[in-house]
Formats: sequence, structure tokens, C-alpha cells
Amino acid sequence: KAKKGKLGYALYDPSMHAEVLERLRLENDMRRALEEEEFEVHYQPKVQLTTGAMTGVEALVRWRHPERGMISPGQFIPLAEDTGLIVPIGMWVLETACRQAKEWEALHPDSPPLMMAVNLSARQFRHPSLMEDILAALQRSGLEPHKLQLEVTESVVMDNSEHAIGVLRELRKLGVKSAMDDFGTGYSSLGYLKTLPLSNLKVDRSFVKGLGDNAEDSAIVRLVVDLAHTLGLKVTAEGVETAEQVAHLKEMGCDLGQGFYFSRPLASEAMTELLEAGVPL
Ligand code: C2E
Ligand code: CA
Ligand code: CA
Ligand code: CA
Repeated sequence: KAKKGKLGYALYDPSMHAEVLERLRLENDMRRALEEEEFEVHYQPKVQLTTGAMTGVEALVRWRHPERGMISPGQFIPLAEDTGLIVPIGMWVLETACRQAKEWEALHPDSPPLMMAVNLSARQFRHPSLMEDILAALQRSGLEPHKLQLEVTESVVMDNSEHAIGVLRELRKLGVKSAMDDFGTGYSSLGYLKTLPLSNLKVDRSFVKGLGDNAEDSAIVRLVVDLAHTLGLKVTAEGVETAEQVAHLKEMGCDLGQGFYFSRPLASEAMTELLEAGVPL
């Protein structure tokens, strides 16, 4: 059978044609969006479960499109990843987040320091200039390396093991922290996990969701918390939405929680107000 390319296929299928056009349009818009300063970074608190203190934030990119309004990362990160635009966009997010963290230092008591977490996609993680870019962002912002944490998904870290270990080692040498994002959704070998120089595991939202009502989910979260602690890592539960989930997570000894129960991701001005108020969440 002869293979049909994407455009060849589009000739026969009008809906596919529309989809291709839509992708091209979005890609074009994305190329301009950086120059036009249409991207924003929002920040979501990470909370120490025993005290309710905010010990960090996760930087989450948003695109304020002039005609389409706010576009969530789920709608454009995959395309940015395919086209490689994720590299300059990700670099912009990293720099913005580091500068912001430096600005917020004054509003936050230093022990424990406010950790700034930034997501790295597969393509960024593999990019040859990654270490250089991280160093540049730290130097330009003046942020200390141990106040930066990079979140990398399980599949990325597990994918290309030799390279992944190398990058994680270099980060550790620099003093930058690293977290495995969405843990439990990929296919981690536990033996391999042991060898990775990580500082944090983030339990995927899909397991946190069933805490309490779903015996399997509860067992999985408990297992991940114990596993992480055995390996000397901190655990963060993502997607925490209810007081009941918080109670279960506390009982299991989970370290940090993040989710709508504590706060939605906030624009930088709103986050500044929250930090100024200084009250536990
Ligand atoms: P993620 O890294 O797993 O980020 C957490 C996502 O869960 C965020 O969605 C956040 O708004 C959402 N969330 C937080 N708490 C709750 C909750 O209690 N319930 C529910 N239902 N959702 C919650 P968001 O901001 O739409 O980001 C989606 C994904 O896009 C992120 O998933 C991350 O993989 C990616 N992403 C976001 N910003 C960046 C970035 O700057 N660079 C890269 N490479 N990827 C990014
Ligand atoms: Ca993340
Ligand atoms: Ca996550
Ligand atoms: Ca997730």
C-alpha cells in the first residue's frame, strides 16, 4: 500500500484539510506571539501539608491570543513541541519565572525558601543548549540554583536513559532541583528510578482524584509516598481538590499538595498579593 502524506490525504478529506489549515494558522500565530509578548506565566502554590505554608510555586504558561482569548497550554504545547517553538517559548518561561522568583524573595521568609518550579518538555530536555540556557537564566535573574526546580515527565526521563541521567546529574552539580512529573502514568522501572538523581516525585492527578473512594487509587498513592521516602525523595500530590483528599494525603505522610483546593494558578499580581498576605493556605 502506498503511504499518503498529510497534505495528500487532505485532498480527499475536507475535515482533515480544515485541521491542517488550523494547525498552520496556529503555528504562524505562535511564531509571532513571542515578539508580540502574548505569553504570560501564571503561578500555582505548592503547600506543605503539615503546616499549610506555601513553599513553592509552579510556573504555568498561558497564551493571550489577540482574537481567540486565553489559550491553555494543553492546546498549544503539543504543536510547539512538534515545531520546535517550545525551545524559545520554554526559554522565555524559564527566564520570566526566575526573575519573578527573585522579585518574590523579599516577600517570603527564607526558611524554607520559595521554590520556583518550571516545566521542561521532551524537546527542551533533549536540546543541546539546555544547560547553557539554564545557567544564563540563573545568571541574568540572580536566582540561586537551589531555588529552581525543573519538572520533567516520567516518559521523558525514562525515554532516553543515558542522556536523561547525564542531564539530571549536571543539574544536580549546578544545585538545581528536579522533579519527576505525572508519576504513575508512564512505565518507570523501579530499579531505574533508584539510579536517577531526582529530588521530588509528583503523583499524577489521576490517582489523587480517587483518594478515599477508590481503594486502588488510595493504595497507589500510599505506595508512591512510601517509595519516594525510601529513595530519599519528597512527594507532591497534584490536582488536590477536596479537604478529604488533604486528610488522606496527610495521613499517608505526603509532603506537599498542589491543586484547586489550595489555589488555582494565579497571574503574577494576584500571587504577589497572596505572598504579601503571608497567611497559610
Ligand atoms: P502539569 O505540569 O501536570 O501541570 C498541572 C496542570 O494541572 C495545570 O494545567 C494546572 O492548572 C492543572 N491543575 C492544577 N491543580 C488542579 C486541580 O486541582 N484540578 C485540576 N483538574 N487541574 C489542576 P495547565 O496550566 O493547563 O497545564 C497543562 C500542562 O501543560 C502542564 O501539566 C504541563 O505539562 C504543560 N505546561 C504548562 N506550562 C508549561 C511550560 O511552561 N512549559 C512546558 N514545557 N509545558 C508546560
Ligand atoms: Ca508540572
Ligand atoms: Ca504534573
Ligand atoms: Ca498532569
